Amino acid sequence: GGEAPPSAAKVLFGKYEVGRLLGCGAFARVYHARTAGTGQSVAIKCISKHKVLRGGLAGNVRREIAAMRRLRHPHIVRLYEVLASRTKIYFVLELAKGGELFARISAHGRLPEDAARRLFQQLVSAVAFCHARGVFHRDLKPENLLLDDQGDLKVSDFGLSAVVSTANGDRLFQTLCGTPAYVAPEILSKRGYDGAKVDIWSCGVILFVLAAGYLPFNDPNLMNLYRKIYRGDFRCPRWISPELRRLLGRLLDTNPETRLTVEGIVADPWFRTGLEEDRFLA
Ligand code: ADP
Ligand code: MG
Repeated sequence: GGEAPPSAAKVLFGKYEVGRLLGCGAFARVYHARTAGTGQSVAIKCISKHKVLRGGLAGNVRREIAAMRRLRHPHIVRLYEVLASRTKIYFVLELAKGGELFARISAHGRLPEDAARRLFQQLVSAVAFCHARGVFHRDLKPENLLLDDQGDLKVSDFGLSAVVSTANGDRLFQTLCGTPAYVAPEILSKRGYDGAKVDIWSCGVILFVLAAGYLPFNDPNLMNLYRKIYRGDFRCPRWISPELRRLLGRLLDTNPETRLTVEGIVADPWFRTGLEEDRFLA
């Protein structure tokens, strides 16, 4: 790194030397930082309290953060620490050095089926791990899928979207401001929904994008997009194998009752190919 004089670097809480901006989201800015002393690289996500966490860090939000801090999994971005100033909340996170997965797809196009499967297996292992602990992502989408320096997947924001939406008091607001292309039909219809089923739908959209190189549901007109999602109106491109086609159909099932569960995915022949046996049984 650069040898900026100490006075030029912003030091947070006497501990983190904040560096360059890594990315921006709807609610947050994420910076590269180094831990003073150990020199460990981390990512620091800054959220303005008045924008999002109107109710402060009380009750539910505090519990959600405690749950997130307990999630330790090779394919989930670790949350090391949560700090707060008067106006901001800082999430100190594991750094994902490879950047966003979908930046790579937009640059290089769709992945061969084997590579798509490997990343999808990593995604499902993270999702299964969280669901078994009662934590749902509810906002799985491209910007939340990062890569490490080995090209392995790291899911970010697990549990965080629940914190944000709890504080917002309106999940739909957040959804409509976010990425409707990944949102399950039952969310659009404003009925109650099951966090696990919603995550599975998003996993289906992500798998489609990995293997096809484009979105299954897409339309410049928002109402048309919603209509396509409601109807589950998508078509697999011809290069998708029959086995993968079948799995996609069972993930992008508009009926949450019949949609595959994590157990169903793990039992799927396309998914199981090349899988190390006991990885999902823990
Ligand atoms: P928001 O919750 O507002 O959507 P994100 O958590 O998605 O914010 O972060 C915004 C961007 O910052 C991401 O899309 C990604 O490019 C980058 N980023 C976030 N977390 C990390 C991380 N742990 N390591 C590297 N880059 C990250
Ligand atoms: Mg995000």
